[in-house]
Formats: sequence, C-alpha cells, structure tokens
Amino acid sequence: MKLDTKSLRYLNPTDWRTLTGVETGSRNHEVVPTSLIATLSKSSVGDVQRSISILAKTNLIAKVKNAKYDGYRLTYGGLDYLALHSLQKAGIAYSVGNQIGVGKESDIFVVSDEKGEQRVLKIHRLGRVSFKKGVRNKRDYARTRIQKERGAGSWMYMSRLAAVKEHTFMQALKEAGMAVPTPLGQNRHQIIMSLVDGFPLRQIDKVPDPAGLYAELMDMIIQLASLGLIHGDFNEFNILIKEEEVEGTDGDVKLVPVLIDFPQMVSVDHADAEYYFQRDVNCVRRFFERRYGFVSDEPGPFFKDAKKMLGRDGTKRLDVNVEASGFSKKMARELETYMKEHGIDGDAQDRNTKNIDEDASDDTENEEDDHEHEDLEQTVETEQG
Ligand code: ADP
Ligand code: MG
Repeated sequence: MKLDTKSLRYLNPTDWRTLTGVETGSRNHEVVPTSLIATLSKSSVGDVQRSISILAKTNLIAKVKNAKYDGYRLTYGGLDYLALHSLQKAGIAYSVGNQIGVGKESDIFVVSDEKGEQRVLKIHRLGRVSFKKGVRNKRDYARTRIQKERGAGSWMYMSRLAAVKEHTFMQALKEAGMAVPTPLGQNRHQIIMSLVDGFPLRQIDKVPDPAGLYAELMDMIIQLASLGLIHGDFNEFNILIKEEEVEGTDGDVKLVPVLIDFPQMVSVDHADAEYYFQRDVNCVRRFFERRYGFVSDEPGPFFKDAKKMLGRDGTKRLDVNVEASGFSKKMARELETYMKEHGIDGDAQDRNTKNIDEDASDDTENEEDDHEHEDLEQTVETEQG
C-alpha cells in the first residue's frame, strides 16, 4: 500500500483531533456518526464537518452508509498518518523516503530523522488479506472469530499487536546481544528500527564460505533457543547479510548475518515448539543445498539438545521477560489465533512476499492477487447485504 505523506503537514490541530476522534470511534463502531466524532474530538460539529471533508478528500477516513445513518470510518491511510505524526513528534522519524519492501502483512520504508540519518519504518498491516487464486474465494471473507469478537477495529488492534510484539522482542534480543536491528520506536501499527546495510540472503548468489555461514546461522537458532525463543520464520528472506571489515586486516571483509522479522516468534514452551524449531533449521538447510550446493554432515541441531541450553550460564529467558515489558500472554494468544485464522505463516511458506528490488522471476504468484483491506470490507458489507 502506498504511503502518501503529502498532506501530513497541511493538517491543522482540529483536523488531527477529528482524525483521532474517528480512530477512537472506529474501535467499536463500523460506522462512526458525525455527532460522535464531534464529541470524541471535543470540537463543534461545524469545525468537525470542515475537517471531515478534508480528511475524506485525502482518504484518511472513508464515508460509509448503513441502514440507519451515514458516518465515517478510519482507513489504513488515516492510521498511518496518526502513527507517523506521533513518531515525528517524538523525534524518531522526520521524513519518509522510498518503499523498500512489500509483504502480505507489512510495508517497509526508509525514513530519516532530523539529522538525515536513515532508518527503517515497518508498517504492520494485518487484516489486509491477499490470497492465492483458487485457494480461497470470496466466501472465505466472512469474518473470523476474532473479527467478530473484536468488532470493527480488529484490523487496527491486530496490526498494533504485531508491532508491539516485534518491537518488544527486537529490544529483548538486542539487549541479549543478538545480531538484530536496533529498535528505535513504536507507535500504533508502526515500528522504527535501524537500517541494516545489507541484502537478504535470498539475493546472494555466492558466499565465500558456505559451511562457515551455515554454522553461524545454526548457532543463531541455538542461541535463540537458549534464550527461550524460536524465530518461527528463520529463512533466506529474514536473514540480512552485511559486509564487515575484519579487524587487523587490509580491507578483508566478512559476511555478518542480521536477523529481522519477529511477529511470529514463539516460546520454547509453545505446544508446537519442536515443529517450529525444526522448520527453521530445515529452511536454512534446504536453502544452502539449493543455492550453494552445501550439505552439512551434521544432522542437527535438534530441539531437545537446544532446549538443554535453556538458561545456561545464567542467560535470561526472553520469552518470560517480554511479558514484563508489555507483551502479555493474552496478547500473544490473540495474535497467534488471528494469524492462524488468516493463514499467516511467514515468508518462506508464502512466495507472495517479495522485495521490490529483487528479481522476482522465480516467484510464482503475482501482485494481481493482492486485495487490500478496503476491498475486503466492501466485500463483507455487500455480501452481508
Ligand atoms: P515482512 O513481514 O513483510 O516479511 P520484514 O521485516 O521481513 O517484513 O521486511 C521485509 C524486507 O524489508 C526484508 O526482507 C528486507 O529486505 C527489508 N528490511 C526490513 N527491515 C530492514 C532493516 N532493518 N534494514 C534493512 N532492510 C530491512
Ligand atoms: Mg520477512
């Protein structure tokens, strides 16, 4: 989805209050009536009406009719503006640059702070369903259990959960000394992190020492498990490779893997932990065989051995720690249920996820299959008629 920031600086304080009012109302109203928007934004109906027309013109809110009354709902564009505005006010992001990634459940942009330093903005977009032809049809657009329970605002809530989870885990992993981007801020469904100067492993055709890199990646999986975690989507899409100069040499470089993309992480105590662990290992194994013709002599690592490392040498259990820093078990369950119900199962399982600057020739799906959240709502509305 595009992120058109043109109007960001033209909105006045009443416009922002009105937009916030629509956001608040959209959490539990399919259609937010103008009178409620006025109440929520503590403005007069007259002022709010002027703002509403500006916000609707720029697609930050959308007009919706139902049987009883007309009103508005927040769009993804509106939520984007609210989050970006907050991150700007906090001095974490200043201007938005190019989009560098499009996934099914996220958009990635380069942003810069006031000093011009580049960072990465990841916008979570749950509830924006894309599907493969023939696998699902429009009938499947009926609301899932969580959408029913959570009501109108489930897409906002779930996207925020994904962002909170990713930011919390990134922070914990960074503190534990793992090679991950530095998390710099989170607001609503957006996170800002440091830019990794590198490319996904998937784009790298040759590595000088496949065995060495393979061992390093397996170590990473074991290290994660010793911290109580399984990445759950550990593969060539989510491992960025940067070049680092080797100290004490004359410009020799080595490849350093940096791990990204954490919304699907699970605890080693998860009921399916072993399955996810093994899947992570197998993804790397398969990729190294296919791409670099490298097959490891060692059959492992195995989950039962990795689990023995848990808490060794006094390491902390991050799966436990994240609960204390704001990502509760309940939130974890809700997000997991939502992802399951929507068939969200990571990058390697879904070739729809790709990077813009990547040769997409071996990706079988194409963009035509992408249907945005807005279409989804239309479909649901008309089908329920
Ligand atoms: P998704 O959930 O859509 O897979 P990711 O977090 O994996 O989202 O990001 C998608 C792509 O965006 C990555 O494959 C990578 O190319 C790019 N990217 C994401 N985060 C960063 C970062 N911190 N630095 C550089 N590139 C990044
Ligand atoms: Mg990814």
